[in-house]
Amino acid sequence: MISLLKKTLGKTIEAIELLAPKRASKISKELLEEILITSDMEYELVESLLEPLGEEVSQRELEVALHRFFRGESYYDRIAPKRIEARPCITLVMGVNGAGKTTTIAKLTSLYQREGKSVLLGAGDTFRAAAIEQLKLWAERLNAGIVYTQQGHDPSAVAYDTIISGVARKVDHVIIDTAGRLHNQTNLKNELIKIAKTCDKAFSGAPHQKLLVLDGTQGSSAIDQAKIFHETLGVDGIIITKLDGTSKGGALFSIMQRLRVPILYIGVGERAEDLIPFSEEEYVKTLLG
Ligand code: GDP
Repeated sequence: MISLLKKTLGKTIEAIELLAPKRASKISKELLEEILITSDMEYELVESLLEPLGEEVSQRELEVALHRFFRGESYYDRIAPKRIEARPCITLVMGVNGAGKTTTIAKLTSLYQREGKSVLLGAGDTFRAAAIEQLKLWAERLNAGIVYTQQGHDPSAVAYDTIISGVARKVDHVIIDTAGRLHNQTNLKNELIKIAKTCDKAFSGAPHQKLLVLDGTQGSSAIDQAKIFHETLGVDGIIITKLDGTSKGGALFSIMQRLRVPILYIGVGERAEDLIPFSEEEYVKTLLG
């Protein structure tokens, strides 16, 4: 876990290590500010993080400041991930096209399967034929069930049929894909609201979790996307993808602070196994080298 994250945030860590090779040595606030901004942490956030520190900052002082940021603001105290008892547990997965939504659904499927759970997928992105085909391929590869229709059909109907089928088959998890054409925001928002209502009709209380997939290489634009999805439907958990190929991990801080939604997993590759649980402790440690 640490080594994977280290790779992810490699440049930031290298820079910190270069400038402060020993734990006892200090780094100037100005340089630290530059490093954190380069790692894509928002300027205002860097300022408020560094504000209480002196002109020369030791690794220890920075570590305390970062932990205070998470803990002092009671990030995880107040926004703990939801515990879900429902069976099937019905998950709606949202995110803009290209964020890694389909791959993440496959990763979640694989994760649940490794926990001994059964999974049924719903190909709810009926807007793109490629999305349906891609999800079918993953279902085949992972030996998971899938409910789908033709391109252009009503995504709510797919969600409904998937849930009814999941209940009948007594599966543990139902994961429903959704469209991600954010350039047509009003339509997408209405569609998502309708899908969520339909889930509740098919199985009272569903969807039990609404997950948002964000591209970790997008930095601050991911935060704007997150706001839109959060305002539309409410987001219970975030999954950040593509953290194997970027040093822009600082955006994670902004997402946590702005939305107050837990980051549940991070994607670190293109394979079904490349999903790891997000740990704030590990993240802070990694950022500090
Ligand atoms: P969607 O349009 O949101 O469904 O996105 P896809 O799941 O099709 O992913 C878009 C591209 O990103 C594909 O080439 C994926 O293989 C790739 N991808 C997804 N997640 C990750 C990740 O965590 N790391 C890397 N390196 N690539 C990823």
